[in-house]
Amino acid sequence: MPKYDVVIIGSGLGGLFCGNILSKEGMSVCILEKQKHLGGNLQTFKRDGKIFDTGIHYVGGLGEGQNLNQYFKYAGIVDRLNLERLNMDAFDKINFQDKTYSYAQAYDNFIETLAQEFPNEKEALIKYTNEIKKICNEFPLYNVRPNLGKDNEHMYYERSVGDFIRSITPNKILQNVLAGNNLSYAGVPGKTPVAIHALITNSLIEGAYRFEDGSHQVADLLIESIQSNGGTLMPDCEVVKLNVKGGKVVSAELKNGEIIESEQFISAIHPTLTLAMTNSKLLRKSYRKRIHEIDETISVFAIYVSFKPDSFKYLNYNYYHFNEGSVWSIPNYNPERWPQEYLFLTLPTSKSKKYAETATAMTYMKYEEVKQWENSGIGSRGSDYEEFKKYKAELLIDQINKQYPGFKSGILNYYTSTPLSMKSYTGTRNGSIYGIQHNSNEPLKTRIAPRTKIPNLLLSGQNVNIHGVLGVTIGSVLTCTELLGMEYLLDKIKKS
Ligand SMILES: Cc1cc2nc3c(=O)[nH]c(=O)nc-3n(C[C@H](O)[C@H](O)[C@H](O)COP(=O)(O)OP(=O)(O)OC[C@H]3O[C@@H](n4cnc5c(N)ncnc54)[C@H](O)[C@@H]3O)c2cc1C
Repeated sequence: MPKYDVVIIGSGLGGLFCGNILSKEGMSVCILEKQKHLGGNLQTFKRDGKIFDTGIHYVGGLGEGQNLNQYFKYAGIVDRLNLERLNMDAFDKINFQDKTYSYAQAYDNFIETLAQEFPNEKEALIKYTNEIKKICNEFPLYNVRPNLGKDNEHMYYERSVGDFIRSITPNKILQNVLAGNNLSYAGVPGKTPVAIHALITNSLIEGAYRFEDGSHQVADLLIESIQSNGGTLMPDCEVVKLNVKGGKVVSAELKNGEIIESEQFISAIHPTLTLAMTNSKLLRKSYRKRIHEIDETISVFAIYVSFKPDSFKYLNYNYYHFNEGSVWSIPNYNPERWPQEYLFLTLPTSKSKKYAETATAMTYMKYEEVKQWENSGIGSRGSDYEEFKKYKAELLIDQINKQYPGFKSGILNYYTSTPLSMKSYTGTRNGSIYGIQHNSNEPLKTRIAPRTKIPNLLLSGQNVNIHGVLGVTIGSVLTCTELLGMEYLLDKIKKS
């Protein structure tokens, strides 16, 4: 008899949320994580005694009655999270062509706030919000109802966000403003499906939150609940092989040679890494080719700033700044004009509501710019890599200082991450920020189902469904319905 009912590969949100559900539903679960620390992108790090988030800065849908709140209620963690709701009148500020526009929370407020800047566009804003709500209504799990195959999700993977926004208004400035937070989904106007824009935007308008003192609290609570349900979590256990016998995966083989047997396997890591773990013919050549050919989202360069005490006010909004005539930076990416845009934000702490201890800023960067250092290990990339990082960081700091005078003088220390850090940290190809690039021109090719042709091998994580806390949570539920039944699980979640 195998030791476990389910082995899960990867302890990011995808792996942990699947582990939470399945252990709650009575299965014996074992989560294998290659890093020494559990949590994937939910991890935080400390410098100068201060906490920095790595891969989660703000989330939507956590208000009472909202979708993520309901999923986290079922998981038993929602009441124990330390959250801060962002500014009701401006959770995101979009600075475009020297003017700042605010996205407000609650739909009426969202419309009224932008209509002050675009008085002739109120009808367009109403149309935009109605369309967003209509799109979101077509996604059953997003609305915490079972997916019985009767909805029209697919239609919104077939239309691009650029096309959608152009259909709302001919006003070019408003078009750019409505696309102003596209860094939160690495948007490409002619490729990114409108579904992704709509699902993220709607959840934030309904309720935009940050995790006070860091996003690791989500991982900590999920780990605690899995352990209390009898689950096992094994850090520092990289899975290198899936052993297949008689048409089924029988065990996961670790780098240290250990073999872990189980009835079912869920891989919550990048699907190309999963495919590389078995040469089973059940995963056909055409399937492997399709998955390998999906483009990745772009990578980012980030700075993590530690402030001198009481030197920089806490900002309870996110600030998206653009230097160019379009907010769609990816198709116009040009290293000569770097940084073309940035996202700047501060992390809330329980110590002070007035001053920020830290800030993070990120901007797109292509992997090719750091590729020359890819074969050197972390810490041994040499002085030219250090100089590159310093040069880029100072360009970005100078940019931010123009919008926030006093920012630079408030800096105690700063730290950086490049596409190479992203790659070694997340295991995504080329340090991609959000995993695969969905493409409305090839919707079927770029959507990955949880089920594989190996009957006891399921996929989860940000490449199934979509990225982000809400997207990955819903993707985990979708994966677990394969083992527990759609109606059963959704009913349990709804009643929790
Ligand atoms: C810079 C950045 C900022 C972001 N900001 C936000 C935000 O503000 N809001 C938001 O909602 N989302 C944000 N995201 C996206 C979000 O962080 C991700 O979509 C989500 O956390 C992905 O979860 P996951 O479980 O799929 O993957 P991960 O968190 O990457 O977890 C995968 C885990 O699998 C492990 N692993 C890999 N290979 C193996 C192996 N062979 N054996 C064992 N373990 C393995 C990895 O070490 C990792 O721990 C951001 C992402 C980045 C990179």
